[in-house]
Amino acid sequence: MNEKLFREMQDAGRVPIDVARMDEDGATLEGATGDILDLHSEYIRPLGGIAYSLEATPAGPELLVRGSLRATLEAECSRCNRTFSFDVSVDGFAESFELDPAAEFLDITDAIREAVILEIPAFPVHDPGCKGLCAQCGADLNDGPCGCAAKGSDSRWGALDGLGV
Ligand SMILES: [Zn+2]
Ligand SMILES: [Zn+2]
Repeated sequence: MNEKLFREMQDAGRVPIDVARMDEDGATLEGATGDILDLHSEYIRPLGGIAYSLEATPAGPELLVRGSLRATLEAECSRCNRTFSFDVSVDGFAESFELDPAAEFLDITDAIREAVILEIPAFPVHDPGCKGLCAQCGADLNDGPCGCAAKGSDSRWGALDGLGV
């Protein structure tokens, strides 16, 4: 067992499993990763790591890992631009990993990260009923009507009138 490498991985916020010393009953894994969610997004940012609660069970040449994952993220609403935070959870995480008999541990960090990323909405909204911004004046319609709608579909002609056309 390369204790030093194992500790370095844990210190880096990763999730290595000590498979070499695991008995046949498996192991319970509880904790949180470090900041491993590199989303490369201007609009969505992770607030900390991924909390995990997992059961690892050896099954022949594989290790079955099941449980739940949770992460908190911050995003700009795709309709109204306000910043809000939300949780993403994966309740039915289940993944089997092939065990390399020569390996002392198994690193499941990438699988955890990918499972959470799949649950992140491409266009997050701060509320399912978000009314967004007025396309004409930019007002936040969640704060109430801006008046543009009252002018109806003629407003673009109104804008031309304003230009003296
Ligand atoms: Zn919104
Ligand atoms: Zn408006």
